[in-house]
Amino acid sequence: RQNAVAFIGLGRMGANMAYNLFSKTYASNPATKFVLCDAVPSVALDLKRRLETEFNGLDVQVVLKPEEAVKAAQTVLTMLPSSPHVKTVYTEDGGILPTLHALASHHTLLIDSTTLDVDVARAVMRDAENAGAKMVDAPVSGGVAGAKAGTLSFLVGGPDATYKLAHPYLSMMGARIIHCGPAGAGLGAKICNNLVLGVQQIVVGEAMLLGERLGLDAGVLAGVINSSTGACWSCHTNNPVPGALKEKAIEPPCERDYEGGFATALMLKDMNLATQGAQKHGTALPMGTAAKEYYDRIIQANPVLARKDFSSVYTALREDKPS
Ligand code: NAD
Repeated sequence: RQNAVAFIGLGRMGANMAYNLFSKTYASNPATKFVLCDAVPSVALDLKRRLETEFNGLDVQVVLKPEEAVKAAQTVLTMLPSSPHVKTVYTEDGGILPTLHALASHHTLLIDSTTLDVDVARAVMRDAENAGAKMVDAPVSGGVAGAKAGTLSFLVGGPDATYKLAHPYLSMMGARIIHCGPAGAGLGAKICNNLVLGVQQIVVGEAMLLGERLGLDAGVLAGVINSSTGACWSCHTNNPVPGALKEKAIEPPCERDYEGGFATALMLKDMNLATQGAQKHGTALPMGTAAKEYYDRIIQANPVLARKDFSSVYTALREDKPS
């Protein structure tokens, strides 16, 4: 298990993160072994093929179960959709923690980058500690483009010493690694950030649509907002109107019919995490609750939007009528 790194969950984010982590680790330490695992084995095999073709000598083992991954590697990263998947991969039979309990291993580092419920994550992290492992929550900000470019921001929760152990791995996938506090703090920060983002993407869509109907050119309006007090990522990078961004570092999902990017279903999940957390902690979220209900409503009305980028909320606004 020494000198081996495993990555479980190779979706839109995970596949890009694993590519950067494995290729950069291999460049600095060619003796490292690599392990990939996903519920859909073909995505792991595709990534194995890509890495082995591009990097002569890099050897990737594909395994079907988390249990095999943790038996093969002492460092395991996970990037899964949400709480139920993390529970499955970590705590159920054939999962990481029962396997570690059986191995009685005291040298495993676990890094979970999933955005999930803070309480579920804290329970898993306590269980990991009982199994003798060290674990951090390390959710990310920066989207698929950041995952590809290796410029993600990692928001990390966990003890200082574990943060230091995780840092070298995270720095191969990200440009900013922020230690937010103890276990669960990374997730708390992530959920609050996405609360802002979820509201902003809707209101940017509203403003772009209202502007068009007031007779404004989309490019002119985006330019004004982006150089004024309304400037935000949802307008200057993830602008929902095709052609509105004149200067862009990366192509926004609206230019490819809202494919790729951050799925509306995942944004709805994050808005639910925020509103449920707020309820538990007696916090009023009038804007967050309204935004959550809107994402929910548009997915119900048009299920195709669930897997499109959440800036596709703009296409739903175009069809909507004032209530
Ligand atoms: P995704 O749905 O594209 O990928 C998830 C992957 O996990 C899939 O390949 C799936 O097969 C795999 N998986 C599910 N259950 C599994 C199991 N039991 N065992 C092994 N593999 C399993 O999701 P994504 O867009 O990569 O997002 C992953 C996480 O990152 C989510 O929590 C999301 O909220 C967060 N996130 C996503 C973005 C983004 O822009 N997509 C940005 C920031 C954070």
